[in-house]
Amino acid sequence: MQEHNNRRQITERERKRAIAYIRRRLILYAVVAGIIVLVLVIALSGRKNKQSAPETNTQPTSAADTTTQPTTPPGEWQELTMTKSDMAQGHLILVNADYAYDPEQAEDLVSVYEDKNDDYYVSSVDLSVSRTIMQSLNNWMEAFYQETGVNNVEIVAGHRTVEFQQYLRDRALENHGQEHADNYIALPGHSEHHTGFAVDLDTYYVETDSLGGFDGTGDYAWVVDNAWRYGFVQRYPLNKKDVTGISYEEWHFRHVGLPHSKIMYDNNLCLEEYIDYLRQYPFDGEHLLASVDDEEFEIYYCEGYNVTVPKDREYEISGNNVDGFIVTIRN
Ligand SMILES: [Zn+2]
Repeated sequence: MQEHNNRRQITERERKRAIAYIRRRLILYAVVAGIIVLVLVIALSGRKNKQSAPETNTQPTSAADTTTQPTTPPGEWQELTMTKSDMAQGHLILVNADYAYDPEQAEDLVSVYEDKNDDYYVSSVDLSVSRTIMQSLNNWMEAFYQETGVNNVEIVAGHRTVEFQQYLRDRALENHGQEHADNYIALPGHSEHHTGFAVDLDTYYVETDSLGGFDGTGDYAWVVDNAWRYGFVQRYPLNKKDVTGISYEEWHFRHVGLPHSKIMYDNNLCLEEYIDYLRQYPFDGEHLLASVDDEEFEIYYCEGYNVTVPKDREYEISGNNVDGFIVTIRN
């Protein structure tokens, strides 16, 4: 009996202990579940905030008129699927020793001689450029003449075929040697003259029927300093040979279009550097904002072949000829 009672007491104590144990467990589960719910709520609301981020401009870059904006700007978007050929087209394609011009591209060329105004010369009736840059070229030279009264700039190079580049390369090797050829004459297929977006400038003197070179000094400094207004950049700037692979060419200008020419000029970026710089602004990150006079632009980079574009705003897409696309929206 005594033994039986003891057993009963033990059983009773165990039962109470078990109940206390279960109660503690239940409290623990409730606390854990509460924490999980709390974490989920915080995570979801964080994402929601990100999606509806306010349109304030943050983190101004070193550029005078460029700013960035927070993740996922407003508006309706759609995704386009681009091709390899698309990536090799547009005013921001990078063509250099590492990235060849795609020979499959059919350039839409115009004769400068036929389409130019009277404010500059062209060296040959056969010289052509991309139709898309002709108006900018005319505006640039017209403004130069109006500002300075000088109208003797001569366009001495525009679009080049791969065969012609080969001829130039061979001639440079023969006449000036390997080093000169490597510094100034790109390998055939790797010259940006293939794009039709590049021009070489010189100066023409009627009295002596001769060329004087273009070094961008004196009156001609205006041409260099204001090229960006017309979408052009000095493609091989001073002290950028390490990046471009080409020595300083005061005379070689490349059309990249606004607002890119302004951002490059303001930040002293050559095209290699600019293409790289834009990788900081992917579609799902901050976009680069730039203003030129009264116009506002929004720029971002899309890696690969899927490009997101706005449904209801005006935009341009350019391949970078490397690994993706750059979208420029006119806001
Ligand atoms: Zn050139």
